[in-house]
Amino acid sequence: MSEAQRCPGNELNKSLGTIDIKCSSCGTVNEIFSDEKDKSNKCTKCKKPLPTPQ
Ligand SMILES: [Zn+2]
Repeated sequence: MSEAQRCPGNELNKSLGTIDIKCSSCGTVNEIFSDEKDKSNKCTKCKKPLPTPQ
């Protein structure tokens, strides 16, 4: 009867991968979560928008 204690969020996080996106402006490689690739991510260094990965 421990079914209710399982957090569905943990299952989700396990399948989360990261994607490396190279900034086209400064060349910095930014690591983003695969579920955030559809969001508008910004370079951590120059703050320019990163290209959306396929
Ligand atoms: Zn950059």
